[in-house]
Amino acid sequence: MRWTRNFIPTLRESPQEAEIRSHRLMIRAGLIQKLAGGLYTFLPLGLRSLRKVEKIVREVMNNHGAIEVLLPILQPKEIWTQSGRWNVMRDLMLVAKDRQDRSFVLGPTHEEIITDLVSKRIKSYRDLPKNFYQIQTKFRDEIRPRFGLMRSREFLMKDGYSFDATDETAQKSYWNMVEAYQEIFKRCGFNFIMVEADTGVMGGSLSHEFMVLADTGEDELFVCKGCGYAANRELALRHCVPSFSSASSKYEEVQTPHMKSVEGVSRFLKVSPQQLIKTLIYEMDRKPHAILIRGDVEVNEGKLRRLFKGASVELASEEKVSQVTASPVGFAGPLGLKGIPLVADLSVKGLRDAVTGANKADTHFIHVDLERDCSIDAFQDLGFPKNGDLCGKCKAPFQVLRGIEVGHVFKLGTKYSAILGANYLNEQGTQLPCVMGCYGIGVSRCLAAFVEQNSTENGILWNQALAPFEVLISPLLMEVGEIVEAAEKLYNDLKLKGMDVLLDDRKERPGVKFKDADLIGFPIQVALGQKFLETRSLEVHIRPRQKVEHIPMDSIVSYLEGMIRSL
Ligand code: ATP
Ligand code: MG
Repeated sequence: MRWTRNFIPTLRESPQEAEIRSHRLMIRAGLIQKLAGGLYTFLPLGLRSLRKVEKIVREVMNNHGAIEVLLPILQPKEIWTQSGRWNVMRDLMLVAKDRQDRSFVLGPTHEEIITDLVSKRIKSYRDLPKNFYQIQTKFRDEIRPRFGLMRSREFLMKDGYSFDATDETAQKSYWNMVEAYQEIFKRCGFNFIMVEADTGVMGGSLSHEFMVLADTGEDELFVCKGCGYAANRELALRHCVPSFSSASSKYEEVQTPHMKSVEGVSRFLKVSPQQLIKTLIYEMDRKPHAILIRGDVEVNEGKLRRLFKGASVELASEEKVSQVTASPVGFAGPLGLKGIPLVADLSVKGLRDAVTGANKADTHFIHVDLERDCSIDAFQDLGFPKNGDLCGKCKAPFQVLRGIEVGHVFKLGTKYSAILGANYLNEQGTQLPCVMGCYGIGVSRCLAAFVEQNSTENGILWNQALAPFEVLISPLLMEVGEIVEAAEKLYNDLKLKGMDVLLDDRKERPGVKFKDADLIGFPIQVALGQKFLETRSLEVHIRPRQKVEHIPMDSIVSYLEGMIRSL
């Protein structure tokens, strides 16, 4: 491809709204163009790289036995009502209406649709297992679309769904996809880790996320230096070290007028938030429970849900809190709280000389030794982990990393198949629901993640796998016939060899050409300038190796072939 016939609108200045490097660079390098918040056009170079991610995904999915389909973007609302997710995901979904005023969801994901297909076309255990996937645009009305392709409202996803007869084979399908994902992300060239994840609104029992490591990543990851356990913030099982364990005298009542918040009380009493015990009243299936947790730790409702299996978990209303604690909201405490279970987070285990609410307006207790002064029904892991917490499995220190979620796998079980009738007949003629798994890759997010991880403020550092072009040829003196001819010859030779090559045939100054080349960041750049006229050798920049070599014209093609293979 010739630069002048292509469309590569590079920019010198960074767009104002771009907060992170990948977003700035993708716009400046002419890969994407913003239409509106969370909506982007793929320009030719961006599209080429996107297609390369897709190609890797397709190859690996096909090699792992998955079958490609293409499902409709528009999905009748009824199927979402039937699955029970219309209410759960309503806020995230964009909805369109047809001329008869019927509502259609613009697919944010496709579990319902694939399950409908299977319910209609798969009948017997002989048809199983099956693993379908598609690469398609998804729509999500994100609260805060940002960082360009990283969190957009319209994005490209590879979504896959496996259907098995038994739980045992469903496990196999799940681990087969985990293996496929490892290969896909390795081939993309990511520095990534796999972490255990919460199954959240998807339901199911097993889930992992694939995280590209980057300081700007939105996800916080906890990785154990001892046993290798790795999990995201929602799931991470933790162990806490008691923060204040010195013995204290008998607890005392103190006045704390209008001090309801952790910050307020700790400032007023001149104690650190780690010395405070928050008492939160939650209702599990409408039954109030007191949840005790350290002042600086947040309650993880996902963990509460898992603990109180199947129960609805909700923070009690102000009215309920007043009723249970016989005091205004903000002064609840475990001492003297009668008739409701006291469930404490690990962060308050062994805590002495602590401060708690006194179940009385404007009053707290100080010098509380939790286990001495009240009887706790159970200590459980109920909080989000913090820097400094230990691994819940082996008690070694956690390393806290940040990551960009590029892939997510779930073992779903029969949640969707049972509701939507994706059943099969087993050998004995009994009808059973298929056991499902679902597997997503943010194909367009992968591009942003790659740029975030492989760039400097001056430009992208593409690898050979995802670069829009593998080789850039830059004739630097366009007025010199010999240079133009040599560049053209090399361009044609490389094309004949099937390489992805771009010829910068613009009549621009060398400085402009170099700047654009560095900004876009082609892995191999071949420059022909004054030196070529003197020595007949070409200057080859191999950016992944940070190396410049001078290669004679007559061996350049084989040299580049070898180099591309080795990168
Ligand atoms: P996130 O936690 O980042 O919001 P998610 O867990 O809601 O993502 P999934 O439903 O697991 O996303 O979707 C599968 C994959 O699609 C994600 O792993 C991610 O790579 C990608 N993805 C999700 N939302 C977006 C988005 N708004 N823009 C771009 N890619 C996205
Ligand atoms: Mg996810």
